[in-house]
Amino acid sequence: MERQEQDVEMKSYEQLVVDQQKKTGKVTKQDFQMLSVIGKGSYGKVILVKKNDTGELYAMKVLKKSEILKRNQVEHTMTERRILGSVKHPFIVKMDYAFTSETKLFFVLEYCPGGELFFYLSQIGRFKEDAARFYASNILLALENLHSLHILYRDLKPENVLVGRDGYVKLADFGLSKENVEGNHEAKSLCGTAEYLSPEILLRQGHGKASDWWSFGAMIYEMLCGLPPFYSKEREKLYKNIKYGEPRLDMPFLSEAAKDLCRKLLEKDPNKRLGSGERDALDIKEHPWFECINWQAIAEKRVPPPYKPQLDQSTDTKHFPQEFTAMKLSPQDVESLKDVNDHGWGGFSYENTGVTNDADYEMNQS
Ligand code: ATP
Ligand code: MG
Repeated sequence: MERQEQDVEMKSYEQLVVDQQKKTGKVTKQDFQMLSVIGKGSYGKVILVKKNDTGELYAMKVLKKSEILKRNQVEHTMTERRILGSVKHPFIVKMDYAFTSETKLFFVLEYCPGGELFFYLSQIGRFKEDAARFYASNILLALENLHSLHILYRDLKPENVLVGRDGYVKLADFGLSKENVEGNHEAKSLCGTAEYLSPEILLRQGHGKASDWWSFGAMIYEMLCGLPPFYSKEREKLYKNIKYGEPRLDMPFLSEAAKDLCRKLLEKDPNKRLGSGERDALDIKEHPWFECINWQAIAEKRVPPPYKPQLDQSTDTKHFPQEFTAMKLSPQDVESLKDVNDHGWGGFSYENTGVTNDADYEMNQS
């Protein structure tokens, strides 16, 4: 995309902000206190913040506009903003606010204090089948919901699955998602994380919802075995394995049902893959590996999770890597927040006023 076109797109982002602001009519200048860095992406940081008036904690994803422009990510960023603002699901990270400053974009997201499922997985090596099945069931319901809205997730990997306070997991990071997808060959661009890319993406044959089910299979495999299914240190070998290799499934700790599910999700032909049909997630839900899952109970969070993050205090960040939490917040970070509060440039582009499924659930519990 040409720079000029990007500028136009960025302007329309600002417009989106202003429109939303008008629509909600609830724009107030809010104060967030920054507590610590919890993640770092290619376009900026994710910071644990506290909202001064309510004391509520949030994860604030801060993106630098200049980086987004430089790397042609305007469209992806706008997609992320639209999806986060429109999707409401207990297993998808909720966005409560979005706003811009002169140089940055901010997403204020519900904080998942358990950190990345990946961090937890890497600490214990691999999950028992029951634990893997529990996380897989959360993820399946999230993907099912996205697909029903014609959204491809496209970036399923353990780093993007976050553990909430209650031990249930949520999909985060919609920077690579795609909207308005109907068939199995719609999207053409090469994106996603190498280990989880499906053969049809690598072969540039286009990909659709079935590609998310491939990544879902890769994720289940990694949870059960501790490594992604086609793992190789060398990028070329990895791609070759994904395109032509068979996943190793002869481990004695894998049940027959688990092997069968992995085989059917890691089917090279997207048209033959489990979940590729009209029924999408329904076909996967009926697989024997999920036989003992009560889908309704999972959706209503009535099933005890395999693990609940242990937190010494609400602002505890021990489930996030030290390389981030040890980082000092730079004066620039603080300045940029002041910027928002002092000048309100762009204002709030989004304010979540709806009651979420989670809140519904909590109300039902009390
Ligand atoms: P990159 O594109 O470079 O991978 P990113 O776009 O993936 O960056 P995210 O995945 O959204 O950025 O966030 C990066 C990390 O920040 C996550 O992997 C997670 O560790 C942390 N993080 C993001 N959102 C939250 C949240 N809501 N609660 C807790 N931690 C979060
Ligand atoms: Mg990510």
